[in-house]
Amino acid sequence: MAILTGEEGDPVALENAVAQGRVILVCEHASRLLPASLGTLGLSVEALASHIAWDPGALAVSRLMAEQLDATLLFQRFSRLVYDCNRPPESPAAMPEKSEVFDVPGNVGLDQAARDARTQALYIPFRDTLRDLVEARIAAGSQPVIVTMHSFTPVYFGKPRDVEIGILHDADTRLADAMLAAAGTDGRYTIRRNEPYGPDDGVTHTLREHGLSKGLPNVMIEVRNDLIQDEAGQEVVAGYLTGLLGAALSAIQ
Ligand SMILES: [Zn+2]
Repeated sequence: MAILTGEEGDPVALENAVAQGRVILVCEHASRLLPASLGTLGLSVEALASHIAWDPGALAVSRLMAEQLDATLLFQRFSRLVYDCNRPPESPAAMPEKSEVFDVPGNVGLDQAARDARTQALYIPFRDTLRDLVEARIAAGSQPVIVTMHSFTPVYFGKPRDVEIGILHDADTRLADAMLAAAGTDGRYTIRRNEPYGPDDGVTHTLREHGLSKGLPNVMIEVRNDLIQDEAGQEVVAGYLTGLLGAALSAIQ
């Protein structure tokens, strides 16, 4: 059975495709949309609106940053509950049976054919579009920078989180170090390295696949979603992160 119908369109969206800036913004968890063929995955309306389905605010912030940085933005148009594009196909977290406190009935006991169908429908086009974009930029003589944009829930398993912005990295710390140095002690936000997640949580798949594999500077940014739930908040955070990235990129030239 096909996961996506023709009317549902391409799973990958590319905006500002011919941007002149070096940064490529990637938003794997931009959307909570489910393909009609999968119904509700057995989830309540509440669960489908929550952070388990998507990263609220992340796409809006990414769009503002794309404009300010003259960056290309690539995002997944369907929910991470169907396929989490920041995970490789062999990872159980690519199609989670449980996410935080919610069981995901429609993901329980998927056989290999069902897993392959979702991988082909959502992950492969996403991976290949990003890979082709990066390779085209390199072939044209530029050195792209991979920045993945995420948001996280302020309360996780009942525990409030005080970190507001996380700067995450894998083995290549160049860009993260420079951003943390640029943030310094301005006191604007509570910013931490590899929080609330880090490489041991498996969240650096996109960085590894598209940044580390080619020696490109890369970073993952996590914003607590209560800071970006409306347009005013999104603009403030996008402006701040654009400033940090700009300063960091100048510093690592
Ligand atoms: Zn995310």
